[in-house]
Amino acid sequence: MYILKLQRVKQYRKQYIDKYRTIQYLVSKKPVVISSSDELKAIIMSRQNFWVDPSKYIQHIHVEESCLDIAHTREILARAGLPFNIIKDKQEHLGIAGESSSNFTEGKKHLFLCKNRGQFFKPCPGTRVYRCCDYHILNIGMNCPMDCTYCILQAYLNKPWLSHFVNIEDMFLEMDQTLASDPERLLRIGTGEFTDSLALDRLTGLSARLIRYVSGKKQIVLELKTKSACIDNLEGLPHAGRIIVSWSLNAPAIMKKEELRAAPLAQRLAAARKCAKWGYKLAFHFDPIIEHPGWKEGYGDTIDRLFSAVPRDAIAWISLGALRYLPQLKTIGTERFPGSRIFYQEFIEGLDGKSRYFRPHRTEMYKYVYDRLKKKASGDTCIYFCMESDEIWKEVTGYNPEEKGGIPAMLDRAVF
Ligand code: SF4
Repeated sequence: MYILKLQRVKQYRKQYIDKYRTIQYLVSKKPVVISSSDELKAIIMSRQNFWVDPSKYIQHIHVEESCLDIAHTREILARAGLPFNIIKDKQEHLGIAGESSSNFTEGKKHLFLCKNRGQFFKPCPGTRVYRCCDYHILNIGMNCPMDCTYCILQAYLNKPWLSHFVNIEDMFLEMDQTLASDPERLLRIGTGEFTDSLALDRLTGLSARLIRYVSGKKQIVLELKTKSACIDNLEGLPHAGRIIVSWSLNAPAIMKKEELRAAPLAQRLAAARKCAKWGYKLAFHFDPIIEHPGWKEGYGDTIDRLFSAVPRDAIAWISLGALRYLPQLKTIGTERFPGSRIFYQEFIEGLDGKSRYFRPHRTEMYKYVYDRLKKKASGDTCIYFCMESDEIWKEVTGYNPEEKGGIPAMLDRAVF
């Protein structure tokens, strides 16, 4: 009896040690502080190149009372197959304790189906002090089920849950009115400013509605920007060549460690390759470029893999942006992700109040990534900087965007 017990103890001990070693190996060779079991699961899955559709992370659905009869709400509820709570109109709380950025981890499991009572369509706020690209935002919802350590939404949003706006008929009406008010104006529009464009698409199916709408409007190009590989709904749609499916890319080490629940590089590139095959234009965003040990090899590797995966002629534009953040994001990011080191570097406060790497440092990283991209990209692909000064443009590219008509004109030439 005693021997049997001892054998069992030894067996359990071995299992525990093996499991512990696996976790240690998968997480890092160095000790890492992990704040929650969700964070641990996400890290292990990303290390194993295993990825699940991030919409499957949602566990609770809440519906605003006046949205219950909207057809789009009913479609989402049927696809999700989850029980849901009814929330009184304009109620401010969903009952998630804390209700602030500190409980984003819990909030990302909750999806709120509600109305957008403000504007759907707006010019990107940009900034007066840095060059911006004259982009327009179509606001389809707030927050996203993936979880990046550097995500600016952690500092912008005052609600921890995900919202999806179900009054889409109002959205299309507003778009119609905007287009009718200036029929000659060409517009580059994106849905990926306050959420990821495709991460909830399995539930919402919104991409197909948007693509059908845009295919009938010659003055619009719509960009669907994602870190997921949720593209199944895009197959076989009449996109009329005016949809750009785009991915944020980073060095492999950053994608693994700082982008929880986002698709690994191989899946993002495989999805991009499929979209190119279906005739979509592509775009890529190296943003945020983050300094880390081996950054040159890392960004070089991603660029090489990008150009072996997709046809270069399919790429409309590629943007570059170095890590920048509002001061409060550092507090939130370091509390939520104590294992991340990205905020522990030297930064200065930029003219827009955001922390940025010192200029020579930014220039060095931009120059390396830009030169490497230039060698591989088609001459028709517009490579541009997001929120940078004329000085940086000149130093890295050798020209000022005004010499080529300005960033908006450069981007318009790539797609219209
Ligand atoms: S994928 Fe985008 S929106 Fe989602 S957490 Fe990451 S940075 Fe934020």
